[in-house]
Formats: sequence, structure tokens, C-alpha cells
Amino acid sequence: MTPDFVVVKVGGSLFSDKSRPGSLDQQVLRAYAELLAGLVARHPGRLAVVVGGGAFGHGAIRQRRDDDAFGLVALTQACFTVKWAWTEALRAAGVDAFPLQLAAMCTLEQGVPRACPDVLLGLLGRGALPVLSGDCLLTTEGELVSFSSDRVPEVLLPVVPGRMRAVVLTDVPGILRDGRDGGDVLAEVDAHDPGPAYDLLWTQSPWDSTGAMHTKLAALVTCARGGAECFILRGDHTVADLDFLFAPTADLPAGLPRTRIAGVDAA
Ligand code: ATP
Repeated sequence: MTPDFVVVKVGGSLFSDKSRPGSLDQQVLRAYAELLAGLVARHPGRLAVVVGGGAFGHGAIRQRRDDDAFGLVALTQACFTVKWAWTEALRAAGVDAFPLQLAAMCTLEQGVPRACPDVLLGLLGRGALPVLSGDCLLTTEGELVSFSSDRVPEVLLPVVPGRMRAVVLTDVPGILRDGRDGGDVLAEVDAHDPGPAYDLLWTQSPWDSTGAMHTKLAALVTCARGGAECFILRGDHTVADLDFLFAPTADLPAGLPRTRIAGVDAA
């Protein structure tokens, strides 16, 4: 598979300490911004970036009060703060980056995201980089619910042109088969039979509000069933470039540990 469009999700743990309110590592943001700038220059209109909520997003979810049904609106501000920090770093790196408030372009119908894609497609059409994140979304029943950044590729899948690859960069090299301190990465997940992969997951840390790897796997299984090719791999802002993200599956770096989630074989 050779992707026409790549969505990269940068996990909050890569640039924020979720246990420290307000934590944002500007140096890491700058390094990723340089890497993404190279990708946008070489693949204009074919890339979107999704950023995790880090300490901001998880804090807003934890602080909501049970007696305030609309209190989750604070999440849209928290996520926007993070998107804006990324937008500034990307603009400093020379990218026409634009933060998109998911809550204003997407609703949830029976749990399924429905997006109004005009602005997103307009940005891609002029070679700009949409910067997205999780958010609080309005359901058809009028409730506000939190929507993980891990699920944003699912929003983009029916909207972007061609074959989509979703790459989730996180603090582990993929789904580990041998526990927390292990190094044995599960190479393939069959999106139509993900049970064995779920069995490998351990419970989330107290700082996490969105289900950690479980949410990622569920989101990517949904995307893969919809035709996307998905990867979970460790984010590294010190690499020379991220061009391999656009490579055909067969040409991905042989030594790069990753978990691939797909509905069809790599060929
Ligand atoms: P987000 O921005 O959504 O918070 P993130 O990239 O910061 O994403 P986490 O949500 O913390 O990442 O998810 C990654 C975590 O998943 C790992 O640090 C690990 O503790 C946990 N995990 C649970 N089971 C596994 C497994 N089998 N293999 C690898 N990681 C696992």
C-alpha cells in the first residue's frame, strides 16, 4: 500500500508530562515542527497532524463536575491551547499551519463522527497543514462528550482523498507482547480479528483519562476496517526526517519496530 494521505497523531506523552498541569515541552514541539515542515514541503496537501491533549486535555476531563452537564466545554479550550502551541511552533518553522476546532466541525451520531469537511479540504487545497486534536463533541441527543485525539483519523477517513495511512506516534514502539518493560513488538493486527491484540493490553496510568492503548487500538481497528492502513510506533523527534511515513508498506525501514493494523495484507 502506498498512501495518498497521511495523518500523524503525536501522543501527548511525547511533549507533555500529564501529571504536571500546564506541562508543554517547547523544545520537543520545535523539533517536531521542523520534521513536519519538511513533510509538508515535500507532500503539500497530503498531510494532517493530530496532537494529543497532554496535561491540558486530561486535566480538563478530570476536573469536570458531575453536576454540570455542559462543563466539558472546558475541554475545547484546553485542546485549543495545545493546538495553538503547535500552530505557533509550526508557523515558526515556516508551515502554513491552521488549528481546527473539532467541536465546531464535527458531531457524533450514535457514536459515529460526522464532519463538515469544507474548511479542512480548503486548507489542504492550498497546501496548508490542518492541526487537529481531540475535543468535546455534541451528540445528536444534545450532550457534550469527550472524543479522544486517537479517534480523529476516523473523522478524516471518509473525507480525505485516496488511500489513507494513520500513524500514531506514542511513548512505546508498538503493542508490546511481553509487558511494560518488554521489547517484543506485535507486528500485525488483523482488524477483523483484533482480540489477541486486546489481550496484550494492560490498564492505564492514573494520569490517563482516555484509555491509553485501548483507545488507540479500538480507533485504529475502526479506521483499518474502513480501508486505512494504520501504525503505532514510538515517536522520535531526533530523527533526520519523517519521509518514511509516505513510503509504500514494503519500503518502510526494516529495523523500525511498529505495530501495523490493517484489514488486508501489506501487499
Ligand atoms: P494520548 O495523547 O492519547 O494521551 P499517548 O501517546 O500519550 O496518547 P498513552 O495514551 O499513554 O499515549 O498510551 C500509551 C501507553 O499505552 C503506554 O505508555 C503503555 O503504558 C500503555 N499500554 C498498555 N498496554 C500496552 C501494550 N500491550 N503495549 C504497549 N503499551 C501499552
